[in-house]
Amino acid sequence: MIQKMKGTYDILPSEVGKWQALERKIRSVSKIYHYQEIRTPIFENSDLFHRSVGEHTDIVSKETYDFMDRGKRKNTLRPEGTAPVVRSYIENKMYADKLPVQKLFYMGPMFRYERPQKGRFRQFVQFGAEAFGSNSPMLDAEVIAYAVSVLKALKIKDVRVEINSLGDEESKMLYKEELLKHLAPEIDTLCHDCQTRYQSNPLRILDCKIDQDKPLLKEAPKPIDYLTKEAQSHFDELIGYLDAMDINYTINNNLVRGLDYYTHTVFEVHLNGDLLGMQTAICGGGRYNDLVKSLDGPDIPAVGFAFGVDRLMTALDAIDFQGDDDDIHLYLMILGEEQKAEAMKLVQRLRIGGILTDVDFLDKSMKAQFKLADRMNARFVAIYGAQERIDGEINVKNQKTGEEHRISTKKLYTHILTELTKPSHDCEDCEDGTCCG
Ligand code: AMP
Repeated sequence: MIQKMKGTYDILPSEVGKWQALERKIRSVSKIYHYQEIRTPIFENSDLFHRSVGEHTDIVSKETYDFMDRGKRKNTLRPEGTAPVVRSYIENKMYADKLPVQKLFYMGPMFRYERPQKGRFRQFVQFGAEAFGSNSPMLDAEVIAYAVSVLKALKIKDVRVEINSLGDEESKMLYKEELLKHLAPEIDTLCHDCQTRYQSNPLRILDCKIDQDKPLLKEAPKPIDYLTKEAQSHFDELIGYLDAMDINYTINNNLVRGLDYYTHTVFEVHLNGDLLGMQTAICGGGRYNDLVKSLDGPDIPAVGFAFGVDRLMTALDAIDFQGDDDDIHLYLMILGEEQKAEAMKLVQRLRIGGILTDVDFLDKSMKAQFKLADRMNARFVAIYGAQERIDGEINVKNQKTGEEHRISTKKLYTHILTELTKPSHDCEDCEDGTCCG
């Protein structure tokens, strides 16, 4: 038997309702913040990721799924969403759009050849946002508030927002020099990866999971102490906006994030407690003012984030989030061969009108069909036999209350619709929709 590939998973029909409900919430918060959806291809020219994410990052050096196509072009399955969105922004000249600040979001599968473990897959889903066209810290603040609002809308509490600033290119250069000087005498005490990073990507050493607690790193200079005046005021302004917006955050001076392209603000959202098991980061992001230019676009600043949607789902499972149910509205029991054509006509009319209807296709007995209706969680069951066809009338039973009505088949649609839209309880106390919405 062929099995799914390591690090991948199936979403079975019984779980798909939760995913759809989660995706809907994400889209509705995105709309409120006025971000528009963009969909880019799942594979791109490999150069895109080498030039943006960075040759020396784990993602590009160890984790991409690369393949040569029949035209001998190098393709890579996207390992993240920012580079493709930036590519599309440049290629489609979105910077010349009538809206000077373009606010986009995406949601879809990403691919990384990582060691699969709890919360870490080889195919996983990310939802991310990218806002182009302004260097204002107001936009950094908006993006962080948007990420926090997604969690609020999903009722995921107990989150921790960590922020830091890497500064502009000049700050980053100054800082790198100091960091290298500090690490040089004892670099051979760090792990093998950190020793490689010393040459290629020294900032990454700061958030190494293995060496994190070593005094050499604890006493290392911090990027925040090497910010230029402009970079410092960008960070101060951001903090002012976050305070004004009542967003809780902590400043983590060791936060650098794994990708090469970040400048100024970097941030992560972690879930406290046990919601995710080992992995606590659910969202990461920051400002990347030089990326558009470095991919041959105009000099346009940008800021964004990416959420692991699989990890959101794990967190939702822990808080017993109820997704969309897969109950049907009506089960129509057809009795007798001669009734089938008329019954299908009736079913088609109901479905076109939006009533979720199903029937039996295996000529089962009445008893077996009642069982089937139960398994489908049918809200109503109606029986259509020879007498019903002759009379043009049908018995409809509300499965919950046991109430039964005999009505004209012509009125079946209106009857079901009216019953379905009746409030399930007295809503006097919830005028604002918080109870039923
Ligand atoms: P990154 O693109 O590495 O900054 O990751 C952003 C978010 O995507 C992380 O905070 C995780 O929630 C999620 N993520 C990254 N890699 C994986 C993976 N292999 N499996 C599941 N989620 C992931």
